[in-house]
Amino acid sequence: MSTDAQAAIARLRDSGLLKSKGLVGGKWVDSYDGKTVQVQNPATGDVIANVPCMGKRETDDAISSAYNTFYSWSKRTASERSKCLRKWYDLIVSHKEDLALLITLEQGKPLKEALGEVSYGAAFIEFFAEEAKRIYGDIIPPTSSDRRLFVLKQPVGVVGAITPWNFPLAMITRKVGPALACGCTVIVKPSEYTPLTALAAADLALQAGIPPGALNVVMGNAPDIGDSLLQSTQVRKITFTGSTAVGKKLMAGSANTVKKVSLELGGNAPCIVFDDADLDVAVKGSLAAKFRNSGQTCVCANRILVQEGIYDEFANALTKAVQNLQVGNGLVEGVVQGPLINEAAVEKVEKFVNDATSKGANVILGGKRHSLGMTFYEPTILGNVNSEMLVSREEVFGPVAPLLPFKTEEEAIKIANDTNAGLAAYIFTKSIPRSWRVSEALEYGLVGVNEGLISTEVAPFGGAKQSGLGREGSKYGIDEYLELKYVCMGNLEA
Ligand code: NAP
Repeated sequence: MSTDAQAAIARLRDSGLLKSKGLVGGKWVDSYDGKTVQVQNPATGDVIANVPCMGKRETDDAISSAYNTFYSWSKRTASERSKCLRKWYDLIVSHKEDLALLITLEQGKPLKEALGEVSYGAAFIEFFAEEAKRIYGDIIPPTSSDRRLFVLKQPVGVVGAITPWNFPLAMITRKVGPALACGCTVIVKPSEYTPLTALAAADLALQAGIPPGALNVVMGNAPDIGDSLLQSTQVRKITFTGSTAVGKKLMAGSANTVKKVSLELGGNAPCIVFDDADLDVAVKGSLAAKFRNSGQTCVCANRILVQEGIYDEFANALTKAVQNLQVGNGLVEGVVQGPLINEAAVEKVEKFVNDATSKGANVILGGKRHSLGMTFYEPTILGNVNSEMLVSREEVFGPVAPLLPFKTEEEAIKIANDTNAGLAAYIFTKSIPRSWRVSEALEYGLVGVNEGLISTEVAPFGGAKQSGLGREGSKYGIDEYLELKYVCMGNLEA
């Protein structure tokens, strides 16, 4: 480890949180063959840790452990499970600086944003600690007088949770919170880029009294781990956040054992700025929706549609705001734009920008790699983008704001819906009737009206079309981990 990496790690208040082994059945374990993968800081290239490169055998062990723990954990009272989750929440909050530091080190987002992710991620554990006590069934009026009909809600069983690198904590707690709350046990597979936050959070779960085996963490060879989860008849549910391509593979792979599946996949969010928008609100909202996490979120504004009457004014104001975004290592005070996750991500951004400019878009700001080197890319604004360009068709997943001019409301809705994705959409307008009309017409799971940051643990998060299946967070999120059981009690008057 370089001296810079050592100095960064030395900032951890609780050095015990830096775990570099997998967690199976409550034990910290290496891979059977001793192979490891490096975890690197994308801002510096420094190796922060080596973690086990696990595969089928280790995942099978984790499944057995989760399966064996399911009976005892699901038989605990809701109140007992709730107390464990509440304690986990308290521990996450009391270790928020350390968790945020790990997120910045392995993922690159600025420390302040990482602290925001810890609060957001912790909120799912708090919310589902409360929901654990509210998993009510139903009594159905019977069809004959000697019968009574009930609906029980029971945990689905062992859950395989596969998560991406862009929110190393929150994408895990959004799944594990509801799963543990209703009595499921879990095998988490974090991204190979960001396992350290997952391992630290799992350590805090053990400290909170969540029993060994209820929460397991394996990482390494993603297809092998995925296959092991898919093939097992003991795993009853797959919950996945990540790319649409991998999500489709997991959905197909779940068919053989008919697992319950939840998918949070890629987006292609339109952000529509109408002539009647409040300019300051539209700029602030578009900036947040586009440049958070350097453009690497599934709900990031991917296409900014701007009505002709406000186009120049909006482009100028957005450019001024984006010019002020400080790019750099997320540990440096004042930095708001970190690096992209890896070289492939920068190459994708370059390809999309080149494609757009070759088809007639103009670079208003940025448009190239940042002079800092590594995987830093200049915050970029492209003008006169149209729907045929790659940057409009697919997620750019980087700090590039493409501006697409439009004339009418009908045209904006048509452009916005012209995609297979359907996760988040944003609109900026002062008109209340238009807010309703457009919100209803957008084929998306989430709509922000005059607001660029809309995710919260209390609201359902999820996509329409090929952006996914199911919802996370809120009272609806727990249903994804429950089976309905209908019980008919007959012959009561016999
Ligand atoms: P990804 O490549 O699909 O990876 C996501 C996870 O799947 C990682 O843990 C990855 O492991 C694993 N994986 C890859 N191939 C697999 C396989 N064959 N079997 C089982 N697991 C496999 O996505 P990403 O690049 O990490 O994340 C970016 C994508 O996630 C974007 O499309 C973004 O929109 C989407 N996303 C969606 C949401 C949402 O809520 N809808 C939220 C965040 C992100 P390794 O990393 O170890 O290879």
